[in-house]
Amino acid sequence: MDHFLYRDGQLFAEDVPVAEIAAAVGTPVYVYSTATLLRHYRLFDEALAWGPHLVCYAMKAASNQAILKTLAEAGAGMDVVSGGEYARAKAAGVPGDKIVFSGVGKTREEIRMALEGGVRQFNIESEPEMRAISEIATSMGVEVPVTVRVNPDVDAKTHAKIATGKSENKFGIPIAKARGVYAEAAALPGLKVVGIDVHIGSQLTELEPFALAYRKVAELTQALRAEGHEIVRLDLGGGLGIPYTRSNEAPPLPVEYGQLIERELGHLGCEIEIEPGRLIAGNAGILVSRVIYVKEGEGRNFLILDAAMNDLIRPAMYEAHHDIVPVVEPQPAAEQAPYDIVGPVCESGDTFAKGRMMPAVGEGELVAFRSAGAYGAVMSSEYNTRALIPEVLVKDDQFAVIRARPSFDEIINRDSLPAWL
Ligand SMILES: *Cc1c(COP(=O)(O)O)cnc(C)c1O
Repeated sequence: MDHFLYRDGQLFAEDVPVAEIAAAVGTPVYVYSTATLLRHYRLFDEALAWGPHLVCYAMKAASNQAILKTLAEAGAGMDVVSGGEYARAKAAGVPGDKIVFSGVGKTREEIRMALEGGVRQFNIESEPEMRAISEIATSMGVEVPVTVRVNPDVDAKTHAKIATGKSENKFGIPIAKARGVYAEAAALPGLKVVGIDVHIGSQLTELEPFALAYRKVAELTQALRAEGHEIVRLDLGGGLGIPYTRSNEAPPLPVEYGQLIERELGHLGCEIEIEPGRLIAGNAGILVSRVIYVKEGEGRNFLILDAAMNDLIRPAMYEAHHDIVPVVEPQPAAEQAPYDIVGPVCESGDTFAKGRMMPAVGEGELVAFRSAGAYGAVMSSEYNTRALIPEVLVKDDQFAVIRARPSFDEIINRDSLPAWL
């Protein structure tokens, strides 16, 4: 169920009119729905209810403290990929034993930090990293659970920039080399091998690549067990895609994904971990923006918004599509015209959509980018000295600013001058 719906002729976020938030907080602004976040978390939790499991939200998708706390209170663990994310998860009250530490290049400082604060497991991505974790854990007199992230050489059939499971990608250890790496891991002090980790990419819209990867994980589990390793936990990564358009896309549902996992891996009796990010946060957030000007160009009209590529980089970075809808509901018979929808940043790449058919929207009116909750606010920057835009969380008929817009002074005062100036 969608919690961003038209009601009485205008767009609502749950029970709050989006226009009311825009008036109170200004634009552009990210708006998230608590009900959607929780619903998506629970869909995964229920999809894995056939066995022991933990849904670890991949917090890189949207990592505001209020979002983390909302999910953590519902029972979610966290998948973190940096020391900063680890600190955020802890600050949101997530216990160390529900934090999985992923990421291609964990620094020694990050490893130490997680060992001090507690961690459910490290997902090891390379042999040198494995040796570093062993060394630090040993020096601290602890033993830490680990998995090895294997690269199954499977084509995730997604955008090249978010495919991670082919042998040419930088992620994980080639599955053919895995047995040797596990043998070394088992021999190293400070490490306790508990399982296998795999994550093949993001925005997967078919189940087949998951099935191929998980079949290889099942085979590897048997092979490792035969060699005496205790494989009790399988971390299957994230990556399930979401519909970015209303019409033609229908990616598999979490329940179907859960059934696939049971079919491919259920017989192994392992605890299952998954790390969904996009599917939990993506359709739980919109980006609300105001039309600054409508400019008539040569054979096309430009809708110039107050949001730009620095606020939502997905279209520029991944050619991503976002539905963009007027906040005032258009009449069903309203005539549509093509617009190039752009931001004010000095780059041609600052284009959200070309030739997009839209009902007429005028200067000063509000539009909403749908499906902007994941990889939106977290990837924003202050390019062009545009302030990071505020984030708002809605719950039923309430809303709260969960990250305020900084003032220009706050932005400028983060710089400091050297003595010679
Ligand atoms: C990015 C990432 C995820 C989340 O992917 P989604 O497509 O957002 O579900 C999970 N695990 C790892 C290791 C990742 O890098």
